[in-house]
Amino acid sequence: MAASWESILQDEQQLEELARQAVDRALAEGVLLRTAQEPSVSNTLQGGMFSGDTSSTGTVPPPRRQVVSYAPFTLFPSLVPSALLEQAYAVQMDFNLLVDAVSQNMAFLEQTLSSTIKRDNFTACLFDIYKQVLKEGIAQTVFLGLNRSDYMFQRSADGSLVLKQIEINTISASFGGLASRTPAVHQHVLNVLNKTKEAAKILSNNPSKGLALGIAKAWELYGSANALVLLIAQEKERNIFDQRAIENELLAKNIHVIRRRFEDVSEKGSLDQDRRLFMDGQEVAVVYFRNGYMPSQYSTQNWKARLLLERSRAVKCPDIATQLAGTKKVQQQLSRAGMLEALLPGQPEAVARLRATFAGLYSLDMGEEGDQAITKALAAPSQFVLKPQREGGGNNLYGEEMVQALERLKDSEERASYILMEKIEPEPFGNCLLRPGSPARVVQCISELGIFGVYVRQGTTLVMNKHVGHLLRTKAIEHADGGVAAGVAVLDNPYPV
Ligand code: ADP
Ligand code: MG
Repeated sequence: MAASWESILQDEQQLEELARQAVDRALAEGVLLRTAQEPSVSNTLQGGMFSGDTSSTGTVPPPRRQVVSYAPFTLFPSLVPSALLEQAYAVQMDFNLLVDAVSQNMAFLEQTLSSTIKRDNFTACLFDIYKQVLKEGIAQTVFLGLNRSDYMFQRSADGSLVLKQIEINTISASFGGLASRTPAVHQHVLNVLNKTKEAAKILSNNPSKGLALGIAKAWELYGSANALVLLIAQEKERNIFDQRAIENELLAKNIHVIRRRFEDVSEKGSLDQDRRLFMDGQEVAVVYFRNGYMPSQYSTQNWKARLLLERSRAVKCPDIATQLAGTKKVQQQLSRAGMLEALLPGQPEAVARLRATFAGLYSLDMGEEGDQAITKALAAPSQFVLKPQREGGGNNLYGEEMVQALERLKDSEERASYILMEKIEPEPFGNCLLRPGSPARVVQCISELGIFGVYVRQGTTLVMNKHVGHLLRTKAIEHADGGVAAGVAVLDNPYPV
């Protein structure tokens, strides 16, 4: 499958000019990140918004640092078989149902995570909150899932490509906002090249609108006209524009969003006797987490704030059970024979669609099954990935590092905090990666496709279940791990073929 822009990748001069045009269009479209040097502000430097005004003092202003730049992206869209795109979209509602079912199944969560929480403190802390909330009784009656299921395209023996799930993100699934703005950039590049027919084939995409629709539905069902959406934010947030895209959609529906840190919740959050959540004295209908998925994001105080939020009546996105449903241990357990059938009874077609996307997943719990998995991985390290219960990229182990870790963990119960996964081997292709401050680079790449899913449940009634768009991320083949936020992958668009 050669793209009609393959020859252009050889022409350095043309690439440079195209890259300049693409970058300007990306900036104009709002495909932006704050910089690593200034992750907390969008416009200016040192000491806040107005500190650059030196007219009254006459002192020399400090040197201005760049605070916003474009998010890295590919110069060209990357080829993706239409059939795989369609398959990924078609299975998304099944994944929504599955995550929702797991989140409501205490026996499954407890059994699945029992060995993990003995050895993994982060999962144990989440699980502890889960148990406390169950014990008190769940006040929340409306449930909102905003997730993203990620896939790679496995090259099979006969040369065909097969859709294989990497993971599902049930908390802080990001880049729905920026992914809404990248199609215009790739259309621009192809139009510059007079490839108007090709430009028209780039799929329109607006996940931020769909994600906001889900939040708005949950807000409406909560049923309090003056209540707010509380976005739990990080202090340093390079990906602010991605989040603003969703906030803007909500404001257009007259739903107001406030951004607060866990620390603010500790100081100014409270529950009334009906466990309604108030922040700065204002009622909160929906809590949307864009923080809280990594151990480093929690101090003791922050864990207390998380507990307060979970105990409340407000719609958490996700609630603690749904966050647990997104762990890698749950993913591994779901691939076991009979599990999907038990969780989605009477839905054999959904089960078949889901199972078709599963790669090989292996438990490392103590016992013969785990021993066998370790023996297999040590015999063929290039075919496996070792994964701890972590999110956010850069945590998995491959190759020699994986071998060393497995040798070390082999006889220790600590191994239960990991899972082993078959390594997906996509077919590499050439594309040109654009990053601020680096020259355009043509490299061999692989892509990862994400589909955004939204569902809303009120009591036992599912009132919304849909897919709302996609994200394609592409990275150079030398990087085993890591997404856009981790500085490894760049934003892309699928070019359906
Ligand atoms: P995280 O929660 O940190 O994002 P992922 O499971 O998504 O964890 O893994 C991070 C990255 O590692 C993925 O984006 C992908 O590039 C790579 N990766 C993960 N699992 C596999 C796999 N089974 N085969 C090949 N690459 C993988
Ligand atoms: Mg991931």
